[in-house]
Amino acid sequence: MGELNGVKSLELLVLVDNTPGREELRSAWGLSILLKTDSYVGLFDTGPDPYTLQHNMDVLGIDPKSLSFIVISHDHWDHVGGLRYLAESGTRCNVFIPSSAIDLGEWLQRHGFIVTRVDSRTEVAQGTTVFLLGNFIDELSMVVTVKNFGGVLLVGCSHPGIERIVETAHGIAKRLRVVIGGMHLLDASEDRLRKVVNTFEQYSIDEVYAIHCTGDVATEYFREKLPSYRVGFTGLVLRYGTC
Ligand SMILES: [Zn+2]
Ligand SMILES: [Zn+2]
Repeated sequence: MGELNGVKSLELLVLVDNTPGREELRSAWGLSILLKTDSYVGLFDTGPDPYTLQHNMDVLGIDPKSLSFIVISHDHWDHVGGLRYLAESGTRCNVFIPSSAIDLGEWLQRHGFIVTRVDSRTEVAQGTTVFLLGNFIDELSMVVTVKNFGGVLLVGCSHPGIERIVETAHGIAKRLRVVIGGMHLLDASEDRLRKVVNTFEQYSIDEVYAIHCTGDVATEYFREKLPSYRVGFTGLVLRYGTC
């Protein structure tokens, strides 16, 4: 997967996050990120409930039927709850889920979605790849390769460990530049936080948006020790590549 297969442009929009950012949008404990490229629109996770997702998609004028695919990082309530809204809105696209999420797969099929169960590296759309790592909880992470820029990594909760996820993503993208999502460092020791910072520096990541379940202590630590740390919130828009 080289740059030739990448997208020309990528826009990320944080649809749901715990941190509020724009008055007109609702925020809630959970995660959902919309990705728009020059050739498709996809959704990474759906937040904790149908109401928050629906409200924010309505306000931002996003038609749920425009989605080419949905990726669910893992079967935790704060990532799958918005699926109910998408089902009710008539969205019937392909949903990529960890192969071990049996109940979720059955629910999706009952609601008319096409389900792809992922247990290895899989291309979701041209330039967008998901991969599965396990550690008690199996979780999908997603890399979007942008031409003449590099890789953008989206993570759900990082239950398998953000260090392992970054290392694997680095092997997929030619040059990994951006990481965004939940990093699950709520009760991480200082030693662990130092290792995480080292990982981001080792791979020369330019921008780290540590949001959702990263935790206040870790966020403070990043703010002090990680120059590439960036603040993330509901409504954040990021653009990469050329339009
Ligand atoms: Zn979560
Ligand atoms: Zn989780």
